[in-house]
Amino acid sequence: MHQYRSHTCGALRDTDNGSQVKLSGWVHRKRDHGNLVFIDLRDHYGITQCVIENTDPNFKVIEHVRPETVLCLDGEVVLRDAEAINENLPTGKIEIKISKAEVLSESDVLPILVASDEKFPEDLRIKHRYIDLRREKLQSNIKMRDQITRFIRQQMWGQEFNEISTPMLTSSSPEGARDFVVPSRHAHGGFYALPQSPQQFKQLLMIGGFDKYFQIAPCFRDEDLRADRLLVHYQLDVEMSFVERDDVMNTMEKVLYSVYDKFKGDRKIDSNIPRIPYSEAMETYGIDRPDLRNPLLIKDVSESFKDSGFGLFAGLVAKGFHVKAIATPGTADRPRSFYDKLNDWARSEGAGGLGYIIFGTDGEAKGPIAKNLDADRIAAIKEISGANDGDSVFFVCDKLHDAQKFAGKVRIKLGQELDLIDPNEFKFCWVIDFPFYEVNDEGKLDFGHNPFSAPRGGLAAFEEQDPLKIFSEQYDFICNGFELGGGSIRNSNPKVMLKAFEKVGYGEDVVKQKFGALYEAFQYGAPPHGGMGCGLERTVMLLTGEPNLREVEAFPLNGRGQDLMMNAPAELSEEQLRELHIKVRPTHKS
Ligand code: ASP
Repeated sequence: MHQYRSHTCGALRDTDNGSQVKLSGWVHRKRDHGNLVFIDLRDHYGITQCVIENTDPNFKVIEHVRPETVLCLDGEVVLRDAEAINENLPTGKIEIKISKAEVLSESDVLPILVASDEKFPEDLRIKHRYIDLRREKLQSNIKMRDQITRFIRQQMWGQEFNEISTPMLTSSSPEGARDFVVPSRHAHGGFYALPQSPQQFKQLLMIGGFDKYFQIAPCFRDEDLRADRLLVHYQLDVEMSFVERDDVMNTMEKVLYSVYDKFKGDRKIDSNIPRIPYSEAMETYGIDRPDLRNPLLIKDVSESFKDSGFGLFAGLVAKGFHVKAIATPGTADRPRSFYDKLNDWARSEGAGGLGYIIFGTDGEAKGPIAKNLDADRIAAIKEISGANDGDSVFFVCDKLHDAQKFAGKVRIKLGQELDLIDPNEFKFCWVIDFPFYEVNDEGKLDFGHNPFSAPRGGLAAFEEQDPLKIFSEQYDFICNGFELGGGSIRNSNPKVMLKAFEKVGYGEDVVKQKFGALYEAFQYGAPPHGGMGCGLERTVMLLTGEPNLREVEAFPLNGRGQDLMMNAPAELSEEQLRELHIKVRPTHKS
């Protein structure tokens, strides 16, 4: 027989009754029933109950073992008595009568428990991740991640994409985050950057004659940490040559939809995947990644407040502000506290408050705003917002973009408060037609997404259009309010590239310095190309139902970007620093 096992701990069934077997695994639970001791032995595949009498000579071997000790047990498969059958366990009809026991590796007292639903502090879990990984939830999350990755690869290979690895030690490739840098020992004062994405390499692969590339690529982004951000994430990274926008979108929509369809379990999935222009997304949902499970819609009712008796809004509308309205069905009979709570929330978000009109079931419009509006205006608001008797309508008034954004937050808040969002459903959409440029916080023209996207209309667009009216060939794929991925048809014409940078105040020198290889490559025959990057962890997170990306990562950093298990980041020795020609500055005390 094999030294460690004839079967895994998930394999044996009642049909194996009478077989002599050998199992190895961890002591999941040990139960002492007087003259009998039960050991639930666990491995990656399952749990098998093993039993020994305290008079058996082997009993001494396991008498004092702690949970999570690794044992190798020989024995005979026997059927359990009818009342001892465990229907929840695939091996629940049998047990092993232990005839030989060996301790392969002892466990000390555990810092976190495995056979328990108890919650442990995240830092403790991360420090002892190898124990945490044994717990059922993490085992299943990481297995699910493997299944999803495998399925994605099969989809891509099935469509003749080539999987190609791109370099990790490279130069900066901006995706809007800071770079992680690696000092070079050989080049005095030189630094590599870890790639924020394989963007430039995948474009260079297209120029290098490949037609369909993909990779499940690590992306390193030194960002401020939040529950929905990782310093390193993996993405399904894709690029295709001689394609139009719809080619990439159709290809990737099929792949992403099929992943959710395969792993959705008993959750619902909507196969209707609308393509929503950015301006419409902002107008109707107040966000560029709308959660379409939320049925509430934002409407513009500025006209109804223009020159109206409600002086506050009338004055602001006269200044060019907009009033946005959200009708909420069946809320008219909510107590006053419902409105007060929402008002307090709006203030905590920095707004002046949240105005509303309540349409009673008798059709009467109530509230301070309604008192100051004439009947025609109230009727118009009711109609535009889509409200009925028994509903209430909430208002936001601000400059257009701010009004849209805050109305977007109100829509989400109301959706949650009114329990309108089905947690067991996946709804997707694309957002398209993003503006190529935006005005940044300093009031300067800047790229709306990344500088790799093509402007719609090419060179002529810059000559004929207001820069803020130019569309980018960018598209984002959204699920339940999360951005699952984004990409674009690339700006592969060097003249267009120069013009695009010129508008934001950069000359050829900056283009050459920042995107030298790509810019040069564009001079030697570049096929039109486009692609996309889709975050893997976010999809695994949504499919496992986890609230935090770190729960789908085998070895995550903690919320402060530390690896407490391996002790990183750590200081370097003086010798290492010297080799790297680095002197660490003391912390600046302010
Ligand atoms: N490089 C982009 C990103 O990482 C994806 C793409 O445009 O293909 O977000």
